[in-house]
Amino acid sequence: MLGTGILKGLYVTAKNLAGSYHDPERLTTIQYPEETAHIPENYRNYPFLVFDGAEAVAGLRCTACKMCEKECPPQCIYIVGERDPATKKMRPKVFDLDISVCMGCGICVEVCPFESIKMDQHFEVAATERFEELLLHREQLAKPDSYYHKIHPTEAAVSDGVLAAEKRKAEERAAKAAAAAAAKAATPPVPPTTASGEPVSA
Ligand code: SF4
Ligand code: SF4
Repeated sequence: MLGTGILKGLYVTAKNLAGSYHDPERLTTIQYPEETAHIPENYRNYPFLVFDGAEAVAGLRCTACKMCEKECPPQCIYIVGERDPATKKMRPKVFDLDISVCMGCGICVEVCPFESIKMDQHFEVAATERFEELLLHREQLAKPDSYYHKIHPTEAAVSDGVLAAEKRKAEERAAKAAAAAAAKAATPPVPPTTASGEPVSA
């Protein structure tokens, strides 16, 4: 019958309107900023840098390999590396990210070999100064592993597994190298011989 579809549509709308008054689960609005919405785990906006331990900059996982900088499509990452005089490992001296340019693609996360950079969920970034306030530096980007676990628990558990497997492999390699070095040290040196196989006299 002509108009049945419209009537069905109006019925669904009326049912949802009435339902939203007595079922809190069906309310689609909240009193922001007093209340904040539940953010789904896979929501992402721009990246942050993960650090382990208590010290933000010293604990950064980033090795300044620059793979993320190279692969970022809009080129909004800028890194300068330096060698840590104590550990001799590379670390970022400068790590800048222009969040006004970042498009949230997550490619930097995909290419990072060290589980160092992850996508954030912080969205309250309104600012009055486009250049100074939206260009985030190393100190602003550094966030603890506990924060990563809080916003992306499933992904962080996988990340922990990857790091644990890599640590195990590195320990196995180190143990093999140490065993080979010990075996070499225990082998007595072969005394020099002449062309006919006679020992060389002193
Ligand atoms: S999320 Fe995409 S655009 Fe943003 S910094 Fe990473 S690679 Fe660049
Ligand atoms: S790819 Fe990872 S380790 Fe390399 S510079 Fe980027 S964040 Fe740091």
